[in-house]
Amino acid sequence: MRIEVDCGWYPIVERLGERLACEGVNLTLATEKWGWLRVYLDGIATPEVEAAVIHARREAANTCSKCGASPAEMRAVRGLRQVLCPACGGDAPRAVVRTRRVGQSA
Ligand SMILES: [Zn+2]
Repeated sequence: MRIEVDCGWYPIVERLGERLACEGVNLTLATEKWGWLRVYLDGIATPEVEAAVIHARREAANTCSKCGASPAEMRAVRGLRQVLCPACGGDAPRAVVRTRRVGQSA
């Protein structure tokens, strides 16, 4: 498993990796794309697998990618979107997020 996310999301990715292993699926890569957790899998995407991935992405959307604190929200930092808690986000403006993605309410 290759993990290319900041420390704050490590526990989420590790839990997801263990959960997927129980389903016989390998989590091959976890990365961050536009402030969202993105995972690549090797195996069959059963409904259980999809539910586990959705759960992890929702968790990541509310967890600071730097320090793991929750609640956190999507911020725009130098043109990049990142999920950050108030302490790590400082005065970075809140990013505009489309509500149809991963259950994040805007
Ligand atoms: Zn933080």
